[in-house]
Amino acid sequence: MANTPYDLIVIGSGPGGYVCAIRAAQLGLKTALVEKDKTFGGTCSTSAAFPPRRCCMPPSSTSRRATHSQRWALRSVAPKLDLAAMMTFKDEGVDGNVKGVAFLLKKNKVDTFQGVGRIAASGKVEVKGAEGKAQMLDTKAIVIATGSDVARLPGISIDEKRVVSSTGALVLDKVPAKLLVIGAGVIGLELGSVWRRLGAEVLVVEFSIAFCPAWTTRCADNSSACSRSRASRSSCRPRWRPSTRRATGSRPRSSPRPAAQPN
Ligand SMILES: Cc1cc2nc3c(=O)[nH]c(=O)nc-3n(C[C@H](O)[C@H](O)[C@H](O)COP(=O)(O)OP(=O)(O)OC[C@H]3O[C@@H](n4cnc5c(N)ncnc54)[C@H](O)[C@@H]3O)c2cc1C
Repeated sequence: MANTPYDLIVIGSGPGGYVCAIRAAQLGLKTALVEKDKTFGGTCSTSAAFPPRRCCMPPSSTSRRATHSQRWALRSVAPKLDLAAMMTFKDEGVDGNVKGVAFLLKKNKVDTFQGVGRIAASGKVEVKGAEGKAQMLDTKAIVIATGSDVARLPGISIDEKRVVSSTGALVLDKVPAKLLVIGAGVIGLELGSVWRRLGAEVLVVEFSIAFCPAWTTRCADNSSACSRSRASRSSCRPRWRPSTRRATGSRPRSSPRPAAQPN
């Protein structure tokens, strides 16, 4: 397959890359896709957007509801978290997802290459595999769909053990007693919310005046309200406007809610 002249090579198999590659192939272009990870689907399918929503949020909500039911005189057995089983469930979901993407690529006759893609020259993409072997592909056009990366903080290295990125935050092997989330955008709030519901004490730090600074004021204020009631504390003090209070119906509670006991 090496040196096959392609009409298009897409680097990166996230939702940006694989959809582009499939559509190009459907339109008749000879297309190849290069991905450095072992699986196709990018951040969304493999490590970020899909797992918390599909696999971690529902059980954590259920456990929170069950814990709360005690307050309402509904006696039930206190839920006990099996984090390993939850992670297995998540991994199964991710596995189905990435296999689905691989199937679609094959079905639409997109050639796939596993390795780090690099534009070596005009019309030339070098793919370096895990074992260091490189091959050169020729193409008329190239699409760079390599996604984005976590913004690093000066002086702090992400070891994915104690200091984790949003990807590492989804593969922790135990519920941390305390979790500091830096950045109150959608991703920080979502992951903070997952671990708070599973029992961690979560502190969210945001340097802007409100949570989710890129959102409209009303969305951001509502999001702050939700987070203050779910997460234990927040270093960001959002402004509460009367109209927002009316829209949300009630003021957020400042006390943390009880959560399931971790193993
Ligand atoms: C925790 C979290 C939750 C999110 N939730 C949502 C949500 O609910 N809804 C939503 O719309 N979005 C959500 N997002 C954002 C969403 O994941 C991204 O917008 C989306 O993945 C971007 O797609 P992409 O194709 O541009 O990049 P990516 O999905 O990041 O894909 C880029 C791909 O390129 C590969 N790559 C990079 N460099 C190279 C190279 N040199 N050679 C070969 N391959 C390379 C990477 O391995 C990766 O597979 C979330 C993100 C995170 C982190």
